[in-house]
Amino acid sequence: AGAPDWAAVRTDFPVLEREVHGKPLVYLDSANTGQKPRAVIDTVDAFFRRHNANVSRAVHTLGTEATEAYEGARAKLARFVNVRPDDLVLTSGTTMAINLVAYSWALPRLGPGDVVLVTHMEHHANIVPWQLVAQRTGATVRALEVTDSGELDLDAARAALTPEVKLFAFTHVSNVLGTVNPVRALCREAARRGIVTLVDGSQALPHRQVDIAALGCDFYAFTGHKMCGPTGTGALWARREHLEAMPPFFGGGEMIREVAFEQTVFNDPPHKFEAGTPNIAGHIGLGAAVDYLSGLGMDHVEAREAELRAHAVEALDGIDGLRVLGRAPEAAAVISFLVEGAHAHDLATLLDLEGVAVRSGHHCAHPLMKRFGVAATCRMSLAFYNTHAEIERFAAAVHKVRGLLA
Ligand code: PMP
Repeated sequence: AGAPDWAAVRTDFPVLEREVHGKPLVYLDSANTGQKPRAVIDTVDAFFRRHNANVSRAVHTLGTEATEAYEGARAKLARFVNVRPDDLVLTSGTTMAINLVAYSWALPRLGPGDVVLVTHMEHHANIVPWQLVAQRTGATVRALEVTDSGELDLDAARAALTPEVKLFAFTHVSNVLGTVNPVRALCREAARRGIVTLVDGSQALPHRQVDIAALGCDFYAFTGHKMCGPTGTGALWARREHLEAMPPFFGGGEMIREVAFEQTVFNDPPHKFEAGTPNIAGHIGLGAAVDYLSGLGMDHVEAREAELRAHAVEALDGIDGLRVLGRAPEAAAVISFLVEGAHAHDLATLLDLEGVAVRSGHHCAHPLMKRFGVAATCRMSLAFYNTHAEIERFAAAVHKVRGLLA
């Protein structure tokens, strides 16, 4: 199919019609959370208006409809990433998905001397859970270096994958630099050494087609709100053997087959890991988001964003005293930058007055900030619904603001 009409696609997002401080909003914070198309908003709305009931418990009509819609969303999500629905645990997002692996897989398995290898470009969600597990098991957390261009070096990875490493947890796409990591090659190296891999897909799924089954990882975590879905949604995919072997780490209703005070028999995965009432409407909305993205075609989304990114980098490079962090040849539409003499927060605050929304700060990636010797950056992150005209407005705003601050 041909590329979508991007101008028409943009009108699917009601919030993009907003004004901020009397100026049309230029939303460049999609890596933080993505905007929602009408198809998602309407699906969530229709669920509450017409079908609202709890899942799996009730045999009445609304209960059945809710369960079918919820499980239907799981199936859509599974198809989107090419895995079996039964191997997809629905979670509140990546953070919950990684913590599930930390407490159900790592905690019972790790001991003194064992190592969890992460990288210097991880989000805190892929660092802190491992530190918590390390504290309780005597294991340690080690980090793979990042190159000056903001990449992971395969040779360095090979050298770091020593026999003490039991788990290699790394991001698919950096939320600060946009770097796309060579996931297949990294997983292959780990697997060759019998090391289990977890990939943080939070920033990958919004930007490109991801075939989890083809990556060769053991665990893949992702979040729904960055890929046009509601907040509080996401999933953990795991190899079946891990899901079967892992004990649940939180218990309650829905996750059991039979409960007696002497013993409880757990339900099969993925339900074993889904105690309590889930974010039903949210995940049904995420199902609609996946339909929406599939309708656009992720290859088209990727191509569109590559064009927008190239334009943005070129525009930023044209501004004096501005430094772009990281120069990976393969990068998604996330760009961190600094302006000489200006604090990132001041820059972001002044950009907001121009209607331009960017994020400033450490982006939940303290170690990466340290690696590049900076306290904070401004980050502009794009989605397919942004326009070339917005990039021009952004660049003009940076130019103006820089004049005020420098
Ligand atoms: N990992 C990465 C790379 C992220 O960008 C984010 C979101 N900022 C997370 C993990 C955490 O996702 P969530 O807050 O949705 O759990």
